[in-house]
Amino acid sequence: APGAQEFIPPSADTIDELRAAAGDCRGCELYRDATQTVFGRGDEHARVVFVGEQPGDIEDQKGLPFVGPAGRLLRKAVDDAALDPAQIYLTNAVKHFRFELRGNRRIHQTPDRVHVTACRPWLVAEFARLRPEIVVVLGATAAKALLGPSFRVTKQRGELLPWPAAAQRPEDFERVPVDRTGAVADAPAARLLATIHPSAVLRADNQDVAYEGLVADLKVAAEALR
Ligand code: SF4
Repeated sequence: APGAQEFIPPSADTIDELRAAAGDCRGCELYRDATQTVFGRGDEHARVVFVGEQPGDIEDQKGLPFVGPAGRLLRKAVDDAALDPAQIYLTNAVKHFRFELRGNRRIHQTPDRVHVTACRPWLVAEFARLRPEIVVVLGATAAKALLGPSFRVTKQRGELLPWPAAAQRPEDFERVPVDRTGAVADAPAARLLATIHPSAVLRADNQDVAYEGLVADLKVAAEALR
């Protein structure tokens, strides 16, 4: 698979233009079985970008990120952390739904590294246009996409990390936070904060504790924006 880079028009200055181009992406095989590309959404001047893993079943059908149960929980957590939803842009590390068919049911499958790598140019292009102040990384897939395979959300969650040198072992990570304009490398004075994915709260044995942990991490981001 060629990766997403060749599907990104260098002339795409805005998120809307990127989104339109992403609709035709064939950068990896995931476009074949999914319904549609699910690109990021939110204000072009958002100060915070949330990065999840990939669209789920409902997101795939609606074409919008974070509109399923995990998205609902995330919105509540954002609210409880006193983050302004108008300042948030939501996206995913991988923009097509990966699943396995079991009967009629489409069961979520974690994207492989090859999908994350293929799709990363879209994420980088989003950062380059948005120039956020804080990137909140939700869960292991997104964390590995941006911080390398050795990053452990459980160990470093809730910490504001410098961008992009937060990887513990940069040498085992093909670092891509640069698009063809070089924009991301020198762009955001962004900092990065990792936390769990809201779907992990829904799966947790003790949902209340997991939820409080998510909110506590998001409060660190809220505090940093003041
Ligand atoms: Fe392109 Fe990403 Fe979809 Fe793969 S998952 S086809 S790289 S948009």
